[in-house]
Order: sequence, then C-alpha cells, then structure tokens
Amino acid sequence: MNFLEERIIKDGIVKEGNVLKVDSFLNHQMDISLFEQMGEEFKKRFEGKGINKILTIEASGIGIACIVARHFDVPVVFAKKSKSINIEGDMYIAEVESFTHKCKNQVIVSKKFLSPEDHVLIIDDFMANGCAMQGLISIVQEAGAKVEGIGIAIEKGFQDGGRIIRNLGYDLQSLAIVESMDAATGNIEFRAQ
Ligand code: 5GP
Repeated sequence: MNFLEERIIKDGIVKEGNVLKVDSFLNHQMDISLFEQMGEEFKKRFEGKGINKILTIEASGIGIACIVARHFDVPVVFAKKSKSINIEGDMYIAEVESFTHKCKNQVIVSKKFLSPEDHVLIIDDFMANGCAMQGLISIVQEAGAKVEGIGIAIEKGFQDGGRIIRNLGYDLQSLAIVESMDAATGNIEFRAQ
C-alpha cells in the first residue's frame, strides 16, 4: 500500500451511497504533509511534460493543486462554480453535474487565464463519474490549450469516470484507486497499481 492508501484505511469512512468521507485529512481539515507527498508523487509522474499551469475546480481541489503547483513552480487556476446564467465578460463555461450535491453547476474560467500556449495539468481530489473532469477538459479544449495530464488523489474505480477519461486517451494518474468499499463493514479494497 502507498502512503495515501494507508491513510485512507486509517482515517477514511465509507458512507452509504458510494461516498468515501476523507474530511479529516483531505477535503475539510487538510494534512499538508500528506499533500506534500502527493505533490512530489505527481511531479515524478508528470515530469518532462512542459507543464506551465495547473487547473482545478473549487473548492476541494484547490488545496492539493496549490501544493502540486509549488513542485512545478507554476500558477494554479481554479474553475469557479456558478449558478448564475448571467455571466459577465469573457469566460470559458462548462456544465457539470455534482456527484456529492446532485445538482448542476456551470463552471467558469476567465479567458485571461487559459490560452493556446498552455500545457495544463488538471488536479482534483476525487474522480467518481468523471463529470467534473469532463467539464474541466472541455474548458481547456475551448481555450485551445493542451491537457498534458490529469492527477487525482482518490479514484473510485467502481464508478465510470476513470475508464471514460482513459478511453478518451488522457494520461490519468490516480494515487489511490478504490476498487470496492462497503459501508456496512467499512472495508476498502484498492486496485493494485
Ligand atoms: P465526478 O464528477 O467525478 O462524479 O465527481 C467528482 C467530484 O465529486 C469531486 O471533485 C469530489 O468533490 C466529489 N466526490 C465524488 N465522489 C466523492 C466521494 O466519495 N467522497 C467525497 N468526499 N467527494 C466525492
């Protein structure tokens, strides 16, 4: 088991409805030493790809993205969630369905911060059905920029997102892939990588 898998076993809680709660170290309280290890690992995995920008989505991707960005020495852009249909100015917009909140959001990025010269690493905390990721990918495509890689902390391998995104040809690297989890027993199994 790697460092993140060990931490999930120690502190993750399996909830009904295929939700893994990791709010004591990942997406509410944040363990920055753990984020440092994740940053180092993503740096190793995406080294040499000419990455000049990190893209993530608010809110829980931002913390991880910032630490990853320090390892690449590049800025972070985060897509903002907005329910407003009256978006002012020059924005890239994608529609994203939230897995955890079961609602649709528009996610927006200012055209000032993504352009055709950009080589983008997309970072997020979770991959479930892949909706959030498809929205981010479409924003990068609209900007004419290139997705050089996708780094996810925890992928739920029993949901479809990972397969869909890999089938589209993207270099998707997840630090932990949960193969199965059981809310009744609390048992979590990981995919061997
Ligand atoms: P997707 O769009 O891939 O279905 O869902 C991705 C987003 O939903 C992630 O950014 C994350 O915020 C949230 N999410 C999905 N599954 C889980 C989960 O099991 N636990 C938590 N804490 N968040 C999740």
